[in-house]
Amino acid sequence: LCFSVISLLLSGAAKAQAPISRNDTDRAEALLKQMTTEEKIGQLNQPFYIKLPIPGVKTDPVSYEDHVRHGEVGSFLFLTDPKEINRLQKIAMTEQRLHIPILFGFDVIHGFDTEFPVPLAVAASWDPTMAEQAQGIAAEEAGHAGLRWSFAPMLDIARDPRWGRISEGAGEDPYLGAAMARAQVRGFQGTPENPRPFIATLKHFAGYGAAEGGRDYDAVYIPEEQMQNVYLPPFRAGIEAGAGTVMSAYMDLNDVPAAGNVHLLQDTLRAELGFKGFVVSDAFAVGSLVTQGFAKDATDATFRGATAGVNMDMGSATYLAHMKSLLDQGQLTPTQLDDLVRPILAAKYHLGLFENAYADATEQTHAEMLAKHRQMARTAAARSAVLLKNEGSLLPLAKTTKHVAVIGPLGNSKGDMNGPWSLTAKAEDTVSVFDGIRAKLPDSHVEYAEGVQIAKAFPSSFDGFIGPKIETPWSPEEADRQMKSALQLAGKSDVVIVTLGELSVMDFEYSSRSSLNLPGKQLELLEKIQALGKPVVLLLFSTRPLDLSWASEHIPAIMDCYFGGTETGNAVADLLVGDAVPGGKLPVTWPRTSGQIPIYYAHTTSHKPYDSPDFTSRYWDAPTSPLYPFGYGLSYSTFTISDLRLTAKTAQLDESITATVTVANTGSRAADEVVQLYLHQRFGSASRPVRQLKGFRRITLQPGQKQEVSFTIGRDERNYWSAAKNGWVVEPSDFDVWVGNSSTATLHDSFSVMR
Ligand code: BGC
Repeated sequence: LCFSVISLLLSGAAKAQAPISRNDTDRAEALLKQMTTEEKIGQLNQPFYIKLPIPGVKTDPVSYEDHVRHGEVGSFLFLTDPKEINRLQKIAMTEQRLHIPILFGFDVIHGFDTEFPVPLAVAASWDPTMAEQAQGIAAEEAGHAGLRWSFAPMLDIARDPRWGRISEGAGEDPYLGAAMARAQVRGFQGTPENPRPFIATLKHFAGYGAAEGGRDYDAVYIPEEQMQNVYLPPFRAGIEAGAGTVMSAYMDLNDVPAAGNVHLLQDTLRAELGFKGFVVSDAFAVGSLVTQGFAKDATDATFRGATAGVNMDMGSATYLAHMKSLLDQGQLTPTQLDDLVRPILAAKYHLGLFENAYADATEQTHAEMLAKHRQMARTAAARSAVLLKNEGSLLPLAKTTKHVAVIGPLGNSKGDMNGPWSLTAKAEDTVSVFDGIRAKLPDSHVEYAEGVQIAKAFPSSFDGFIGPKIETPWSPEEADRQMKSALQLAGKSDVVIVTLGELSVMDFEYSSRSSLNLPGKQLELLEKIQALGKPVVLLLFSTRPLDLSWASEHIPAIMDCYFGGTETGNAVADLLVGDAVPGGKLPVTWPRTSGQIPIYYAHTTSHKPYDSPDFTSRYWDAPTSPLYPFGYGLSYSTFTISDLRLTAKTAQLDESITATVTVANTGSRAADEVVQLYLHQRFGSASRPVRQLKGFRRITLQPGQKQEVSFTIGRDERNYWSAAKNGWVVEPSDFDVWVGNSSTATLHDSFSVMR
């Protein structure tokens, strides 16, 4: 290893902040000394507390009581009722021999009572401060109910929009993903100066987003250079920010299931990334080591999970049933058991659970809290929307518009607007698009028609449990009637707001799609409305990018609204009339067709046998370029980004260069621009991506206002994991720099780095 490799490896591990103090670990150690083997194993067990539509999951509150009393439960997941939390906690704290509190955890993904936009939408805001605030609010609301642990943030880089869980992460880019990871950990856990009694989970470790074919749970093959350069950076950032827990993934990574993967959980997570907290398996994943064709039986699964370093068994109760026999036979040692239990107890001390274990929710403070959070949710939803097209400045609409038609299956939906993983927020509290527009335009005639239904080819047992239920399909006559009445409404309106997309259950776990088309007859509805010749605004509700090849040519205004949470309708109304100005940018490359997948901006230069444009990698039937590039998004104002200045044209390996540009708002509205810096290394020990995001800042400028924006390009921005060197390197080379407002920025300069 050359010197630069060693120093980076060391600095990577050393930078990690310890969320748990020495004192917490000492207290955990002292408690361990008093515990029986059975009590220790109990701490590793995390049962579900819910009527899940999954066979074999216990849902009997009475037997839970006994399990708690006998010290067989370290944590529960999916219990969110503060009264029941307090009841079970009291049994643990008073009737269980050592009075060890239970840690209650839940999927607080993008809100609890108040839903914020789905994580991919928050990433589209390019505003880490907002991400931090949103997760802070989610933790506050969940904490109020007695929860102290969220199974978020999801940090899986996703470059395949067929994968439904693309909605839960920050998209395709490791740099943006790392920024969002840090921000969310700070939001959930607070800062060292201002800590919150709550812990975050970095999941799913690691590579889950690279499922073959975009099929959720499917196998993943990731070579080390991709793992290090693309998939691990958000985890590294989350660990450095002090995240308390990591969740291992479900799938096989390079043929070894993540929950039993020693290389992944020991060499990478512990030794290399310096993670000091505890690892929880994904739900049932320890038990699944058998069905994955990896472990011989449940006892072997226990051995494999425990020796790989999975501290807590989520849902499968495999540890509870089989660990004792492994210890009795000497296959696992008491020291190994203590090592698994210690960080769980330390986390409980860190959270102050031994002193303050109960939820203290009172109805009044709860109501006050929610009212306060709504405004923030509205701002967040507006800041997350991405304006994809605005021909002839159709948007913003005049507030004096007389007849407004809202048409489409998502225009009057509340539950879908909350997005996937909104299990605790009440759908009736959510503002639909129709309601939001009506409230915004009290003097206009605003009418709604559904037009078409959204159809899924196959139902899922999660329908209705985790998102709105799929409605029974209309009869052909009813479908005909609905289409006609929608067109009639469109025909008599001054502007038609068409609300299309996907049901939120389609953007969820276990929700892959083989195509990106608008499901059902939505495109037909759009085409028929467009043929009427009225001004049409298309609002898209989904998280994965959908096939907009027809719409992008024929519809003048298109805005991607994702699923914006509780305040979606109000935020959309703000955006439609210009009370809010869109400033979001795409966190994923938008394909023209699903045949282009995977398509992402940070690809390497492909083999080019001759210096001719013909001999590049390409399709005969479609361009290789996307429909909309990563980082792209329009505004109601206009900006120029100019005058790129570098502090030097040459630098030594350890030196930094600063790039500065002047950003000016040349339009007539106060608005935001996201200034982005991309870097390319021209030669070295490996080919590097054609460009990579290495800096960004979202700024607000008044009309006519100018601002200088600077970015540092130092070692951290230039390092990468080189397959040729088998480690991290910072190399002498020539570098290109682009600054602009998308990944196709053209403002360019270059510099050289010498040894
Ligand atoms: C998901 C996890 C989630 C867990 C508990 C699993 O199916 O993959 O992301 O945290 O369930 O709900």
